[in-house]
Amino acid sequence: MSIEHVAAGDPGEISDALTTRFTALHGRAPVGVFAAPGRVNLIGEHVDYNDGSCLPMALPHATYAALAVRDDDRVTVSSVQQESGWAGTLGTLRPGRVDGWATYVAGVVWALQQEGWTFPGLDVAVDSRVPVGAGLSSSAALECSVALGLAHVAGVEVDDEVRRTLVRACIRAEVEVAGAPTGGMDQTVAMFGLAGHALLLDCRDWTTTQLPWDPAAHDLELLVVDTRASHELTDGGYASRRADCEEAARALGVSSLREVEDRDGALKGISDERVRRRARHVLTEMTRVDEAAEVLRAGDYAALGRLFEASHESMRDDFEISCDELDAVVDTCRAHGALGARMTGGGFGGSAIALLPRAGVDAAAAAVAETFATRGWPAPGFLHGVPSDGARRLR
Ligand code: ADP
Ligand code: MG
Repeated sequence: MSIEHVAAGDPGEISDALTTRFTALHGRAPVGVFAAPGRVNLIGEHVDYNDGSCLPMALPHATYAALAVRDDDRVTVSSVQQESGWAGTLGTLRPGRVDGWATYVAGVVWALQQEGWTFPGLDVAVDSRVPVGAGLSSSAALECSVALGLAHVAGVEVDDEVRRTLVRACIRAEVEVAGAPTGGMDQTVAMFGLAGHALLLDCRDWTTTQLPWDPAAHDLELLVVDTRASHELTDGGYASRRADCEEAARALGVSSLREVEDRDGALKGISDERVRRRARHVLTEMTRVDEAAEVLRAGDYAALGRLFEASHESMRDDFEISCDELDAVVDTCRAHGALGARMTGGGFGGSAIALLPRAGVDAAAAAVAETFATRGWPAPGFLHGVPSDGARRLR
């Protein structure tokens, strides 16, 4: 079986094509094209709202935004991925006044206005290579590409402090305008990702540390598999996991599970069996993130693979957020030489990652595709998980 990967494309070619499209649509060239990537989390799942750390990396698959100012107060938004766009005025940008996909774009303009930034009218056009709804954070890629473009329009020089402001605005756009719960990991790595690195993000104080992460240098590859499954019909699964974590923290008398000092001993203090298992996932996952940071520093990728395995089992058995498709990817990659594999993201579908010898990637992907075909599931998508740069200007 020949396996096609979802192409990240050539950033120069994509931004040239978007510039041509923008110019045809709006009768003038954009002031620039700005890109921001999708992401995968290497390890540290459902720890963000428990004040723990996670370890995401930026993908080569990005969203591209072209912008130009207008001489009136209108804002227009269009996307290659969407049939209909949106148009309104600067004054109408606020929660509840925009709907559909454009909320992610209009939301960023609104959130930066809340930070005191002022904008003239704008035309915005986007194109993307990040699969939508695969748990790879196309939403943050969209917000962050637009946010970087807006900084340019506002004449702001983009340093780390400004990037942090942009992250904050993108989170507000997603939570308050698009109405989607997000912890902030996605926007942070979309802004601060660095090629050849993973980003250790401490969700208690939002500090970040770049850690060397270069599988190709070890003749390995991180294969990302989009299961194209989505079993969560409502937000029930996420909300109930959060509630269980809060109950565990209450039972232990701490403000968050991050504050637990004796991670092994604490579990005895939780009487409810299900809540105890939920807490066990979070507490062991926090320890695994600490260990993953150490093994990345040491370049011990076999040890990283073992942490992936333990993480997946913890999410499958204790946190109960995996599903048949995710387990099938993990089991199949494991049987085809993976050093480790795990589901990534919130769970109940979305994507999985596998750390594989480069020479074995195609065979493992083919085996996964065959497993899916045999079980009558829609064909999965495959992406090369090359650690890539965060938001940047392309032209
Ligand atoms: P994920 O971030 O995991 O891909 P989300 O549900 O958080 O999934 O975000 C997906 C939504 O983001 C889409 O339904 C759409 O509204 C918006 N979106 C993402 N990328 C684009 C794009 N290129 N063009 C238009 N809308 C997009
Ligand atoms: Mg999202």
